Amino acid sequence: MKKNKNGFMKKRLWVKISSIALAACITVAGLLAFSPAERVYADNVAVHTTGSSIRMRDSAGLNGKILTVLPKNASLTQTGTEGEWSKVVYNGQTGYIRSDLLAPDAAAASPAPAAVSQETEPAPAATTPAPAVTGGHIICIDPGHQRKGDSTKEPNGPGSTTMKARVTGGTRGGTTGVYEYELNLNVSLKLRDELVRRGYTVYMTRETHDINISNMERAQFATAHGAEISVRIHANGSTNTGVSGALTLTPSAGNPYIPNLAGASQKLSSCVLSSYCAATGMKNQGVQASDTMTGINWCTMPVTILEMGYMTNPADDTNMENADYQAKMVKGIADGIDAYFAS
Ligand SMILES: [Zn+2]
Repeated sequence: MKKNKNGFMKKRLWVKISSIALAACITVAGLLAFSPAERVYADNVAVHTTGSSIRMRDSAGLNGKILTVLPKNASLTQTGTEGEWSKVVYNGQTGYIRSDLLAPDAAAASPAPAAVSQETEPAPAATTPAPAVTGGHIICIDPGHQRKGDSTKEPNGPGSTTMKARVTGGTRGGTTGVYEYELNLNVSLKLRDELVRRGYTVYMTRETHDINISNMERAQFATAHGAEISVRIHANGSTNTGVSGALTLTPSAGNPYIPNLAGASQKLSSCVLSSYCAATGMKNQGVQASDTMTGINWCTMPVTILEMGYMTNPADDTNMENADYQAKMVKGIADGIDAYFAS
């Protein structure tokens, strides 16, 4: 027998570039030059997010506007693909997520459950109330004040001849020495994270102390980002250190600029305050009308100012700097926002 010559034979693989994806793309959208191949699925696929803080955008690509941020294991429906992106529906909202951040549900591959017999008990899901629908709702959080106030003036409302300081410095903790702008941002950042975790889309008017954004500009920011509600986070101060508790400020039906938003703002103010006081045990000073706040008067959506407590009161001030207590504050505000959208 002759020995075979091994190891010298070159094997060439010719990769055939498939044109299937391109063929599927001859649609109106496909006529656009450089448009990535788009595929629409005949059957929707149940998928879930494989990581946390997954961004869903309004178009395929990193330039797409962020619609919402999803937690890990969020359930959604994949309806197609576009390049490396999946077209998905999440809580009724359509958007795009990078395909490598999604995985098909295991349940989708398993056979359909057998028909329910008359003897079978009803599934627990049938008797469990549906969770609050939070996905897609857009919230503006406005952490009150900033490191340096700006005493130059701006109109108190649209068309107003009354001029007020653009933004003031706020109050300060009498016991802790913490500035209000610090407390407001600290709580607001935690609130943002909690609301995102619950499925909301959140925009912050500021994420730093070193900024100059007036109260009018904060309201305009909320409008520009399509916010459905604006939640303004503040803390109170008084010359009487014995005064304590939380309150919300809301435009009245007699507000010269936004009387049409009084009802919804009242509801928002009431939901946030009652949930906040229930979660923290903070004394409830009630929902109070205010028609002189520039940051309220320029709003175009329901708005509330939460005065979380009195920084001039030793107990309130100390509590509001406590991490465990802050977790309760954040839960209370988020619960109030859930309640507002649920009713
Ligand atoms: Zn304030």
